[in-house]
Amino acid sequence: MELTPSELWQRVLETARSGLPEQSFRTWLSGTRATGVSGNQIHVDTPSDFHTEWVEDKFGPGLADVASRLLGRPVDLVFHTAPDSAVPHVPNVELAPSVPDVLPGVRRAPAPGGAFPGSDPRRPSEAGGSGSTPLQTPGAATPPQGVPPRYPGTHPSRGGDPGAGARPDADPRSGAGLNDRYTFDRFVVGTNNQLAAAASHAVAETPARIYNPLFIYGGVGLGKTHLMHAVGHEILNRHPNRRVAYVSAERFMNELVNAIQTGTTGAFRRHYRQIDLLLVDDVHFLVRKESTQEEFFHTFNTLYDAGKQIILTSDRAPKDLPGVEERLVSRFEWGLVVDIKPPDYETRVAILRKKAEDDGVALDDEVIDFIARSCTSSVRELEGAIIKLLAYSSLRREEVTVELAKAALKGMLRSERADGPSGERLTPESIRDIVAQAWGVRPEGLQSRRRTRDLTVPRQVAMYLIKELLDESLVAIGRVFGGRDHSTVIHSIRKVEDDMRQNEGFADRVREVRERLAR
Ligand code: ADP
Ligand code: MG
Repeated sequence: MELTPSELWQRVLETARSGLPEQSFRTWLSGTRATGVSGNQIHVDTPSDFHTEWVEDKFGPGLADVASRLLGRPVDLVFHTAPDSAVPHVPNVELAPSVPDVLPGVRRAPAPGGAFPGSDPRRPSEAGGSGSTPLQTPGAATPPQGVPPRYPGTHPSRGGDPGAGARPDADPRSGAGLNDRYTFDRFVVGTNNQLAAAASHAVAETPARIYNPLFIYGGVGLGKTHLMHAVGHEILNRHPNRRVAYVSAERFMNELVNAIQTGTTGAFRRHYRQIDLLLVDDVHFLVRKESTQEEFFHTFNTLYDAGKQIILTSDRAPKDLPGVEERLVSRFEWGLVVDIKPPDYETRVAILRKKAEDDGVALDDEVIDFIARSCTSSVRELEGAIIKLLAYSSLRREEVTVELAKAALKGMLRSERADGPSGERLTPESIRDIVAQAWGVRPEGLQSRRRTRDLTVPRQVAMYLIKELLDESLVAIGRVFGGRDHSTVIHSIRKVEDDMRQNEGFADRVREVRERLAR
């Protein structure tokens, strides 16, 4: 049967759709389309460079397999970026927190520890950008009248750094209120923030076209502000004349109140409604602030209708902002909603390495491992730990070692470990007892000779974790369990490893206890 390239691609996408979470499909694949077939190559357009790299990398082999099967011969896929021809994609979906899944048969890439690969601006082209994008340069915009300099300005000649007053030739970044440390190359991508980072790159590449607004939510100190600033920097790198403004929702409100009091609401409105990229941080602050919401609603609409990009952050998802008007919540959900989770161990290590490198301090692996295991709640906490450790080391004039780190971070750790094993060093016995507790049996049961299943499973898990966390010898481990010999111990450890491979639920349970112990 003859198929046009686009019919063929439709069939490929239908197959892919059934093997992917809907939101992954809509985010990455629904905006693609096939433009032609030459020899054994199928040419596929995507809406941005970022999509091209991501789709090629994550879905390419799986999609090529499907296409080959449909055609009955091997074919390759060649992806091209074509912002104008690819279907502009305006999803109205909430992205699940997890990493985008892969097609059946495609191996999931290992969790990236470094900067996101899509950050390479291979085509910083104005051609695909400002020529056709609705974002305007200041020259084309209506000149502002009487903009009070206290607003986060955005253009070198008009911006006002709130701290320093208006500076005619100031760096647009400071005028925009951007922190110069919050750039993409300082942002470590891990499984916890992969989608948020991906979406931010895509927005920086093609503002107001793919995800508008971009709504990033998550707990404190997880990198929301950092990411939104990174988009601002990247857009200013590519288009120095764009007007970028960063403002916290709280500051937006204070400025509004001030404008009302001084009769300058006109200037306030003009200011915020002529921005090309508006970054509004911590919009959960708007809960129950009705008149600020009202004003923000109109600002939002004006910018959105003019094709300007808006990025919002919050500590909660839009639907969990009960004191915010429904019409505003629904606008928050128009574009893309992504969350950031606390970093996992690997990401914490990668972040610590990166921070040490960026700040030119030497932290050896052991110290990094210690901090990564001790500080688990946020990136800010990791940063705090490094600062504290360095201060401690310079006060005491001692080298940074694990011992020093333990002493320096003692206070931090105790508070963290309220439900942990009391801040003391882990021992084989404490691991055994905590595993017993997690499995709901008495610790003595694990030392006994009894071999009922309710005891053998936690016993084996405890042996496995003692090996993993403390690397004790098999003989020493056997001793903790009433003097079992080393072959029993090795058998137990292998059994747990096998079971973890085969049973995801069991593996999660073991990992959970492990996380708790390693804190
Ligand atoms: P939030 O806005 O979510 O409360 P921030 O963006 O202020 O968090 O981040 C807190 C601190 O942690 C900042 O100094 C930021 O640079 C840093 N940070 C957060 N996430 C990362 C990351 N993935 N890589 C590097 N630094 C990060
Ligand atoms: Mg923040």
